[in-house]
Amino acid sequence: MLSHPWSAGVARLKALLGEARRCLIVSHVNPDGDAVGSSLAAWGYLRAAFPAMEVLVAFPNRFPDFLSWIEGADRAVSYLDSREAVHTYLQGCDLLLCLDFNDLARLEALGEALTACAAPRVLIDHHLRRGEEFDLVLSDPSASSTSELLYRVIVALEGKPLLSKGIAEALYTGLMTDTGSFSFSVNTPDTFRMAADLMELGIDKNEVAARVYDSYSESRMRLLGYCLQSQMRLLPERGAAYISLSREEMDSFNFQPGDTEGFVNYPLSIRGITLSALLTEATDKTHIRVSLRSKGKDISVNDMARKHFNGGGHFNAAGGKYFDTMENCKAYLEKIWNESC
Ligand code: 5GP
Ligand code: MN
Repeated sequence: MLSHPWSAGVARLKALLGEARRCLIVSHVNPDGDAVGSSLAAWGYLRAAFPAMEVLVAFPNRFPDFLSWIEGADRAVSYLDSREAVHTYLQGCDLLLCLDFNDLARLEALGEALTACAAPRVLIDHHLRRGEEFDLVLSDPSASSTSELLYRVIVALEGKPLLSKGIAEALYTGLMTDTGSFSFSVNTPDTFRMAADLMELGIDKNEVAARVYDSYSESRMRLLGYCLQSQMRLLPERGAAYISLSREEMDSFNFQPGDTEGFVNYPLSIRGITLSALLTEATDKTHIRVSLRSKGKDISVNDMARKHFNGGGHFNAAGGKYFDTMENCKAYLEKIWNESC
């Protein structure tokens, strides 16, 4: 199990970690379960394994409330809220640990701040196509999640899963959320072995699932109902469906970050639907956020996101942006979907 293709990379990481005095851990904008889980697990691991190292986690913006129970969440900062603190921290920083993205553009303004920092950039990630902006890349697009990759890296560094329960909970959160509770993206039995290892470290997996999935607000639940009842358009001939939400609609349901997490998957539960999108208007109304999902091996939404929406992601899950109105975005989406029939 330890004979992974990136053993040379792990050795290089070990050397970098041995020298680092101050490390910044970063992950992508609108951080999801895997971004937050892997970042906080890395934070916990580095603090335990390298007690003399200063470690900080920074996200481009705030993560959703349903992840705030993870150990270390209260110590992580959002660049939007703590710009100056991050700039000051970066001045003496000698290691950048980049998790769950492969392009600095995914960090938005935080990415620009990083370009001014000369510290080596280590990327641990499972997205397709890696950016060229990193000094060391530990990537495996077949991995279920960045949390799984990080787990493999830690095991390789330590020789065994030297992890606390808190770190195991963070890793399990990333694994569970990026696989839809083990429904997709699980490509090897090793993923289940990892879950078993985490259970042996004392996590209560039912409790983790309940904290993440049973903590929605009433307004989020009603927003989901509204989306499915009124905002979902089906294109049955194309085997596709999409949901669209304007800012006004989101505001009327007291929208909070993370509230639309998972909405894009619902249309895929309809028989015959293998392609789905969620279109949400950005807060500043400058663009539409496009979230894409597909089922099976025929449609690469990663290609679709890259070609049409200046984005990317995985074969079956990707996202991007469309810089125009919602009406035009919907028309464009239907056009490209019908063309690729
Ligand atoms: P989601 O639809 O859940 O926001 O994102 C699905 C997947 O696509 C995630 O793995 C995410 O990292 C990736 N993704 C989402 N938006 C973008 C984007 O704007 N650019 C790129 N490169 N990847 C994205
Ligand atoms: Mn991920």
